[in-house]
Amino acid sequence: MQIAMVGSGYVGLVSGACFADFGHKVCCIDKDAGKIEALKAGKMPIYEPGLAELVMTNVRQNRLTFADDLSAVRGAQAVFIAVGTPSRRGDGHADLTYVYQAAREIAAAIEGFTVIVTKSTVPVGTGDEVERIIREARPDADFAVVSNPEFLREGAAISDFKRPDRIVLGLEDQRAEAVMREVYRPLYLNQAPILITNRRTSELTKYAANAFLATKITFINEIASLCEEVGANVQDIARGIGLDNRIGAKFLHAGPGYGGSCFPKDTQALIKTAQDYGTPVRIVETVAAVNDQRKRAMARKVLSACGGSVRNKAIAVLGLTFKPNTDDMRDSPAISVITALQDAGAKVNAFDPEGMEQARHYLDNLNYCSDPYACCKDAAALVIVTEWDEFRALDLGRVKSLLSEPVLVDLRNIYAPDEVRRQGFKYLSIGRYEAN
Ligand code: NAD
Repeated sequence: MQIAMVGSGYVGLVSGACFADFGHKVCCIDKDAGKIEALKAGKMPIYEPGLAELVMTNVRQNRLTFADDLSAVRGAQAVFIAVGTPSRRGDGHADLTYVYQAAREIAAAIEGFTVIVTKSTVPVGTGDEVERIIREARPDADFAVVSNPEFLREGAAISDFKRPDRIVLGLEDQRAEAVMREVYRPLYLNQAPILITNRRTSELTKYAANAFLATKITFINEIASLCEEVGANVQDIARGIGLDNRIGAKFLHAGPGYGGSCFPKDTQALIKTAQDYGTPVRIVETVAAVNDQRKRAMARKVLSACGGSVRNKAIAVLGLTFKPNTDDMRDSPAISVITALQDAGAKVNAFDPEGMEQARHYLDNLNYCSDPYACCKDAAALVIVTEWDEFRALDLGRVKSLLSEPVLVDLRNIYAPDEVRRQGFKYLSIGRYEAN
């Protein structure tokens, strides 16, 4: 099967490379000529574990090619749209400019029966508009528009794509169903459940999933704050409730608030859609508001660990990306935490294994350091914002000797309080009240 992937970012490139690995012929297309040039030269435009190897293997076997012009969709039986759908400036609706632009350009190039698949996360009803745009541009074209939201997680994207919990297909056309079943046949053989719904249901399923996960995180974060006041331990509570199969253990790690390229914008877009239809999703509205406040509140935790003020103090921050194993900085909690610390007069030293290049687009006046220890030098506190593996076993003796004050604020609970305190640190974590 010949597949075109329009948009070669975190989702498009991973999906395209995985489809090629299944044996399909895939062309990954992107408007960003620099990205395509880099890919052709064997350089990955993003950091995702295992991606470089997967791409190179499939390029060598002539199953994966790249193009910066949408005319390359010609001849594909399935054309995926995997372009960005960021929050629209000002109102929080999903900005569909890139999706509609891609649809217009795809329309000009398709020939023969073509299935156009929105893999981008798009508000309910977008498929109807994509269909209208293509029909208007090419009244003669034989095509169907399918919704196939993507559920992969950055950092584990390849295994998520190859072993999905489910594949959701929103379609109302028999021929399109046959094409989509063929696209996903290798996964079907792996017994990945395929859920076929109407297009609108599929579009909304993606938002419902992300809103639910964001709610779960926010729920445990609020319980964590209560734990800190009443002398309880949120990690024990997460285990105590997570072992209940009706609840499940995942997404119950208390932390600095969710971030990333999906949850903040997707909860916001769902809120807007629901308001437009006169059926507000009040739980999700509250989740989004609580989460926004939480991110900045984390800076207050640092202030209190530093005796109430960070003015003219250096603060060491480890971890900038919204989670480990990615270079993605979009809506990372580190942005709010660092900005609030800077607003309070701190000078911030920072280190992240993969995110520092991206971070330069989001944060000003950071002192970027070459490793965690350089970051700690003369700082009045060390703050762990993202739980990269390499931060889990720091030489705490060395850290203590480098800091001007032995203060560790662990926003991911990756250290054991007793152990850190035994080494002479003032230690603050999340939802684990213990007198200092
Ligand atoms: P991204 O910004 O990494 O990639 C989007 C790419 O599309 C960019 O490289 C951009 O240059 C390209 N593009 C934009 N307009 C184009 C056009 N007209 N023609 C060709 N290329 C074009 O975005 P992403 O993180 O891969 O997200 C893509 C979609 O997938 C979004 O809707 C997102 O919500 C959804 N999604 C993302 C994730 C994730 O973890 N990143 C997970 C599931 C779903």
